[in-house]
Amino acid sequence: MRIRVLTIFPELFETFARTSLVGRAIDRGLLDLRVEDLRAYTEDRHLSVDDEPYGGGGGMVMTAPPWIRAVGELGDGFWRVLLSPQGEPLAETKVRELAAKEDLLLLCGRYEGIDERVRQTVVDEEISIGDYVVSGGELPAMVVIEALSRQIPGVVQLQRSVERDSFRHGLLDYPHYTRPRVVAGLEAPDILLSGHHAEIETWRHRQSLAATLIKRPDLLLAIDWSPAELRLLKEVAEEVGASLPPGLQPEP
Ligand code: SAM
Repeated sequence: MRIRVLTIFPELFETFARTSLVGRAIDRGLLDLRVEDLRAYTEDRHLSVDDEPYGGGGGMVMTAPPWIRAVGELGDGFWRVLLSPQGEPLAETKVRELAAKEDLLLLCGRYEGIDERVRQTVVDEEISIGDYVVSGGELPAMVVIEALSRQIPGVVQLQRSVERDSFRHGLLDYPHYTRPRVVAGLEAPDILLSGHHAEIETWRHRQSLAATLIKRPDLLLAIDWSPAELRLLKEVAEEVGASLPPGLQPEP
């Protein structure tokens, strides 16, 4: 997968691109990430990328010409994504959709944002990382890149762990434990040390159902439940003292 990033702060990506999963994906040729400095596409000697807003109101606005020039030079064949709090919220389905694009150009705004005509002329899609505002598109772009890179085959060495990530199949992940066996007086569940793989799987599935019931019951409504799974969900709900969301009741 090829990802290009346009930013006025390329240095923010230096450690990111060398570290952990993304760093390994780049080293192994699974991800081709290049970060471009927007100022290289300015035409004045001050390398300006912003100006005062028409209509006043304070703050600075990123000017359109450097973006339009940069996207014209870099964006051919790329799906062009503007990071913006006004975009579609990033969720698992959107991550997979973006991962399927193969070639992505991520535009990172700063200041009050970018002149609207950039969105109108050279952007295919706006993506938000959530309903809050951060000061620039760089951290949101890193969020997108990390989430996408987990979808590239071979990046996460154990594909099984991606398959079990929260949201992958509509549920939250089950809780994880490792050594030491006792922490702050709390023992790791015996079942996980039993060596009974089938029973461990059953326990983990029930824990996933319980976590979703307690923390994100809204997710349960998007799942196409088989009657047997729905009965199991009800059983787990009774066990943990949670109630099923309205509209989700097993057949008697
Ligand atoms: N005035 C803009 C607004 O309220 O819609 C916010 C501008 S913000 C300070 C500067 C830049 O940060 C934006 O152009 C965008 O690239 C990025 N940004 C801020 N919050 C974001 C979010 N939740 N998701 C994605 N990008 C975000």
